Amino acid sequence: MKQFIGFDKEFKDSSIIFFGLPFDGTATFRPGSRFASGVVRNYSEGLETYSPYQEKDLKEYAICDDGDLELPFGNVDRSLQIIEQKCTSYLEKGKKILACGGEHLVTYPLVKAYLKKYPELKIIHLDAHTDLREHYLGEKYSHSSVIRLIAELTNPKNIYQYGIRSGEREEFKWGRENTNFYPFSVNELRNINIDKSVPIYVTIDLDVLDPAYMPGTGTPEPGGVTFSELLQAVLYLSGYNIVGADVVELAPDYDTSGASTMVAAKIIREIALVMT
Ligand code: MN
Ligand code: MN
Repeated sequence: MKQFIGFDKEFKDSSIIFFGLPFDGTATFRPGSRFASGVVRNYSEGLETYSPYQEKDLKEYAICDDGDLELPFGNVDRSLQIIEQKCTSYLEKGKKILACGGEHLVTYPLVKAYLKKYPELKIIHLDAHTDLREHYLGEKYSHSSVIRLIAELTNPKNIYQYGIRSGEREEFKWGRENTNFYPFSVNELRNINIDKSVPIYVTIDLDVLDPAYMPGTGTPEPGGVTFSELLQAVLYLSGYNIVGADVVELAPDYDTSGASTMVAAKIIREIALVMT
């Protein structure tokens, strides 16, 4: 298997494990995010391992690309179970994880596993969409309800949402009343008020970016942030206790230029270095 560039250390020596979740079983508009991790690995070759933003090089850190999970296509419940089990086993081995979706529902089993180890976990959510639906087309388990599902597992005040610009009126109301809700922009991350010792999980739905930067996604939403703004938001997290992260909703086939895939790969490099 081709590895993500710089994620080439042995599993046993690595503190951060990168892995792919080829799952888009509840995609409502445009499926295809299950192809993201493989394509991201190929494109990562076009990146340098050195980040001039952080003055850090992936070569200097113990990060392993552990490949993709094998998930039973069409079986949502079983897929979520497998993801949770795998995440739990990484956490039991003392690893931090960096997951590449897949669609956003994959964050639910990941955070579920994390909350067992870190009940005080804070969740930072960057997205165009609230993802606060109680159900979608009668389904409770959907990419558009993932943050609501997580809010059932923990105090919603542990959830911080940024960049949101789409959802139902009720979702916006619920978000404003229950989570830490910062719509339209990701710049508010600069004022984040979380103690540096508290464990944080970061979930980045790439559609938080404007479709000008990120057309290759399942549910593009105009009016989004620029790549530089998203990068800056990730850099604001330096020095915090990021114990896990995921980057989701790249659907590479909708952007034949490949630029969206490169955006995803670069964000993965930067968040990995922030986690070191
Ligand atoms: Mn989402
Ligand atoms: Mn979204």
